[in-house]
Amino acid sequence: MTASWALPGAGHAAEADVIVIGAGAAGIAAAHQLKAAGRKAIVLEARGRVGGRAFTDSSLGPAYDAGAMFIHWAERNPWVQIARDLGVATSDESWGGGFQVFADGKPMADADRQKRRGAFGQIDRRLETVDLKQRDLSVKDLLGDLGPDLSQIASSGLLLSIGEESDRISARDYQRLWSGDDLLVPSGYGNLVARHGAGLDIRLNQPVSEIRWDGPGVSVATPSGTLRANACIVTVPVGVLKAGAIRFTPELPARTRDALGGIGMGALTKIALKVEGDRFGISPGMSFLEAGSAGRLMNVDLFPDGKDIVIAYCGGDYARELSLAGPDAARDHLTDLLSKMIGADIRKAVTGISFPAWWTDPFSRGSYSVCLPGREAAREQLAEPIGGRVFIAGEATAGGGAMTVGGATLAGRAAAAAVARIKA
Ligand SMILES: Cc1cc2nc3c(=O)[nH]c(=O)nc-3n(C[C@H](O)[C@H](O)[C@H](O)COP(=O)(O)OP(=O)(O)OC[C@H]3O[C@@H](n4cnc5c(N)ncnc54)[C@H](O)[C@@H]3O)c2cc1C
Repeated sequence: MTASWALPGAGHAAEADVIVIGAGAAGIAAAHQLKAAGRKAIVLEARGRVGGRAFTDSSLGPAYDAGAMFIHWAERNPWVQIARDLGVATSDESWGGGFQVFADGKPMADADRQKRRGAFGQIDRRLETVDLKQRDLSVKDLLGDLGPDLSQIASSGLLLSIGEESDRISARDYQRLWSGDDLLVPSGYGNLVARHGAGLDIRLNQPVSEIRWDGPGVSVATPSGTLRANACIVTVPVGVLKAGAIRFTPELPARTRDALGGIGMGALTKIALKVEGDRFGISPGMSFLEAGSAGRLMNVDLFPDGKDIVIAYCGGDYARELSLAGPDAARDHLTDLLSKMIGADIRKAVTGISFPAWWTDPFSRGSYSVCLPGREAAREQLAEPIGGRVFIAGEATAGGGAMTVGGATLAGRAAAAAVARIKA
């Protein structure tokens, strides 16, 4: 039996003890924890599906993870256990079909490849030697003495991992991110996250437009009406909060707004093409990296697991440009690149595109959170409870676990525990 808190002074009963906004990894984790503690939680989700930025897309036929794919730092990631409990297999085998580097669609010259290899590792070397205790630096400044050319090459890998330009990444925040072994979920990480949502009271197609926290509890406006509860846990991405998609009444406190100002969103995006028929002599799972221009890196995984699909990904301003240009332009751009790499016949073999442009998606507004230089404390600041009844959680508040599904899950659990502490 669920114990409901009374709303002191309220003229009507609350629909739930806690309203959780967003049914991604953080929202699902918070709702499970509240349910286990005997609290009634309702999860309101804007999309018509569960999982948020963990999404296994099968619109092309062969499924692929359009958002999160790796269970990072598996040694301490809660998803290893969740997958085990649900009987979902994980794997430490990558596609592993080989790797080739290109410059403008042609195999990169040896000398340039050597130069790239030499530049890599410079970030880690600097992080070990530069003293960041006194002041934070951007990753760009961390590499400043390498000179503009090498510095850009050294930081270009961050476009594919952090999804952001190096002058917008705090070196301290980057330094504290957890690392470890990566696992894959062959049946789809997004499918796994969605499955974990089963059994919760999740209401789809319910974009929240306003949260009032001026009364005794909270009231939350959705297209189906207003719901009341004693507290709410807000797990929408930072990009959505920054865009003002949810009105807060009264407005968020200055400290929370300041925290939001210290966190941006990267723009990592994938572009998947369905490629049927010919394999063009390419072994399944091979990866091509276009690196002719350090600011416009594009990694392409070809026919992973022998599927009729190629999955490209890119980040930073290049990804923003493609996201704004839309799926037709992205398809043409990637097909042009592939025809230089493989030959013009690939044009005929491309039969479909899936382009999850997270940067322009109104329910994410970017791939994941990135602290601006000097602002690495913003994550903790954002997680500070507001008025004892509004709790912001999600990957952005996950400290060293930020930017990941595992981190979002831990942050969701932490918010649920904080709600219980305050209201029990
Ligand atoms: C391309 C890409 C690759 C990635 N790769 C990895 C990876 O390999 N491994 C990894 O661990 N992580 C990866 N990530 C990051 C990972 O997907 C996220 O960190 C994680 O899924 C975030 O979970 P969350 O619950 O914090 O947010 P979300 O999953 O974004 O959940 C928030 C939910 O809120 C909903 N919402 C938004 N606005 C409203 C509203 N107004 N009202 C109601 N609901 C709303 C959204 O629809 C969403 O479902 C990747 C992300 C991207 C984009």
